[in-house]
Amino acid sequence: MSPNGARPARAHAGTRPARAHAAVDNLRSHLLAAARTAPERPAVVQPAPGGGVETVTYGELERRADLLAADLDALGLDVGDRVILEADNGADAVAALLACATVGVAFIPASPETPDERLQTIIESARPALHLQAADGERTGVPGSVGTARFDASGLTVERAPAPRVRRRRVVTPVDTAYIIFTSGTTGRPKGVVMSHRGVIAFLRGAEAEGLITAGDRVASTSPLQFDFALFDIGFALSHGAALVPVPRDRLNWPRRFAAYLRETGATQVNGVPSIWRPVLRHDPGVLAELGGNGLRGILFSGEDFPLDELRGLQKLLPEVRFTNAYGATETMAASFTRVPNPLPAGVDRLSIGHAFAGAEMTLVGADGGPVDEPGEVGEIHLHTPSLFSGYWDDPDATRRAVVPDPLDPGSGRLVFKSGDLASRGPDGELYFRGRADSQVQIRGNRVELGEIERRIGEFPGVTGAVVLLVPRPGDDPRLHAFVTHGPDAAPETRELVTFCRAALPGYMIPQGVHVVPEFPLTTNGKVDRAALTALAAS
Ligand code: ADP
Repeated sequence: MSPNGARPARAHAGTRPARAHAAVDNLRSHLLAAARTAPERPAVVQPAPGGGVETVTYGELERRADLLAADLDALGLDVGDRVILEADNGADAVAALLACATVGVAFIPASPETPDERLQTIIESARPALHLQAADGERTGVPGSVGTARFDASGLTVERAPAPRVRRRRVVTPVDTAYIIFTSGTTGRPKGVVMSHRGVIAFLRGAEAEGLITAGDRVASTSPLQFDFALFDIGFALSHGAALVPVPRDRLNWPRRFAAYLRETGATQVNGVPSIWRPVLRHDPGVLAELGGNGLRGILFSGEDFPLDELRGLQKLLPEVRFTNAYGATETMAASFTRVPNPLPAGVDRLSIGHAFAGAEMTLVGADGGPVDEPGEVGEIHLHTPSLFSGYWDDPDATRRAVVPDPLDPGSGRLVFKSGDLASRGPDGELYFRGRADSQVQIRGNRVELGEIERRIGEFPGVTGAVVLLVPRPGDDPRLHAFVTHGPDAAPETRELVTFCRAALPGYMIPQGVHVVPEFPLTTNGKVDRAALTALAAS
């Protein structure tokens, strides 16, 4: 597997035609529609090998996808076989996933930063036929039971052929698996979310109906490939016939290089988790202000609550930019797109997650299983959507807990996604995210919303972020810990902070440990890493 080792023979293109039927929904045909009508249009704008940026057109992207599809087909993989696709986001990675879609193998995206151990766990669970990595990838040690190959613009180079398989399927159908995302586990332990071609395309059609971008846009994508946000970006850009602009990791972490890259590529829209904006807001806000006048029209964020002081700071620098709050989970790709007023009016203390995207609906269900209709009352979001995932990989029990008979019409046989997220309605029926259902914990017999404690701490002057966790202790009662970040002024006095909490919250909701930290640890997907904070508190 050494990148420098001798390159084994290239696979030969098979004689069998591509197995996806052009007239039937398939991720490949949906995302390459522009290759039919406008092959010269830019599909991906990315760093050029010799410096500067290069444009890969829709026609060229299709050519690369066809080469890879033929090579994959020649390996004799069956429809439904799994392939790990390890790469940074870019034209070749997109061509590879389109090739997988063409021949009906399910891709499992991974990024080069994925730790060996985690990749190992995914391999043990998913039993892939093949590990496919970019030609310059450095992963070694893939178990011998898994075939290995590399890809670039000229096709596939097989290093170790996959074990011979029995092919039982001939045709890729819309209910076949397009991809499996192993989530980072914000919502519990990592799970393999299995998504069909039909599900992802239904979602992309709904997203298109929101009219957020046009074919002339260039969508900067900042998430690593294993995060479904990256797949959203790819699908979102290409299904509009727009251009995808993957932002290399090394540019993202350096404000000036990030801003310069957005300018150089002509990005008109930036998608990412809220934390991507933190370094530039802290260290170099001036470079952002310039972007507003340089064609940047939209910012779409998703994945977690945007800390409001940071959002306000960003809006101040970009007063002309349209902000969109995309809410949802990997299991349905997303659920809603809500325009955030710019500037956010003073007094707004919670962002709306609005209404579900075209073709879907969010309903709220109370703890008693009945509908929640009263404004302000909290219920669990149940999503009625054509983008429902197929189930969790190899975990029927978890699937049964998340894909449930519609509680509002149980006899109908209809299944809905029980999201595990809490929300309440505003005066116009729009929804407000109120935290995870599993952040409702029992403390000495009292039901406690950890988010409520976080909100109180967030009101303390100078505090910019708060995460509250109930940390188990072996053989003892669990303890409430609060982690707090603060602005440029002096760190808040923990004793004063506790007094401030006492003034509004009952005793059992007062954190027993308060930790002021310079910043929250982040997962590889850029979300607050609650597991790391729990470990910190436990130690
Ligand atoms: P993981 O984070 O485990 O990889 P997901 O990306 O699917 O998995 O996480 C989805 C969860 O993230 C949602 O159920 C919700 O709790 C949270 N979330 C997603 N978008 C938003 C948003 N716009 N505002 C607040 N929370 C969000």
